Amino acid sequence: MLPYILEQKKNGKKIGFVPTMGALHKGHLSLIEASQKENDLTVCSIFVNPTQFNNPEDLEKYPRNDKEDIEKLEAIGCDILYLPTAEDVYPGGMHSSEFDFGGIENQMEGECRPGHFNGVATVVNRLFRVTSPDAAYFGEKDYQQLAIVRKLMEIENFGFKLVGIPTFREKDGLAMSSRNVRLSPEFRAEAPKIYQFLLKAKDLCQNQDFKTVQKTIQEDFSKTELQLEYFKICDQNTLVEATSREEGKNYRAFVAVFAGKIRLIDNLQIC
Ligand code: AMP
Repeated sequence: MLPYILEQKKNGKKIGFVPTMGALHKGHLSLIEASQKENDLTVCSIFVNPTQFNNPEDLEKYPRNDKEDIEKLEAIGCDILYLPTAEDVYPGGMHSSEFDFGGIENQMEGECRPGHFNGVATVVNRLFRVTSPDAAYFGEKDYQQLAIVRKLMEIENFGFKLVGIPTFREKDGLAMSSRNVRLSPEFRAEAPKIYQFLLKAKDLCQNQDFKTVQKTIQEDFSKTELQLEYFKICDQNTLVEATSREEGKNYRAFVAVFAGKIRLIDNLQIC
């Protein structure tokens, strides 16, 4: 555990933790604000984790803005920034551990980005041990990641609280993402369609079956400049793709698209 955090915990302080990859935006800040409301001290970490990138160009071009990030964290009154080096996070060498998450790691983001969730879980596991929080805050923007972290906490017996925070959006509905700054003006203008189609799916699923909704939305995307990677409707708890609706269950639609070279994801509870 980091010595400063150990000292604060000995003094009875409650620690909230918000792991990020930096290039902070209002979505990240909403996680920090949630932590500040519920804890005595909030730790934010910034580490662009190489092992969760399956695409080297995406890793190389990932926006890095430490100076601006520090200003934003100071302005919001975040107590502690943990800005580790790769050696701090990977003292034994840069490789992922292998986890068995019971199958959710092999679909959607796991299927499209092989090794991604082992990379995520490896870094989160390490960061949880170093910060030893009382609560950790993750965004629903990365809903499958939130499910993976929940499983990781079971596997590794972390006893603290995991909090999911709703997706923070631009005025036009585009989910905030560090990657948005890399969008060309043309693709930035096209990207709000992702949320518009999620809302449309929510509307359609009131009186249409999931397969029909999926087909309609796939057709809608095919008429845009966005290259659809997947549009899926899944059981919100198991993340298993759903073909029909069962009473008492909630469902969520998940999207991944390429806007030019920039990959964007989003999701919405639809029923
Ligand atoms: P990242 O820096 O992209 O790894 O994200 C760090 C944390 O912020 C993750 O828990 C994300 O799910 C969360 N996050 C990213 N974008 C948003 C957003 N627009 N709204 C809420 N949380 C977000």
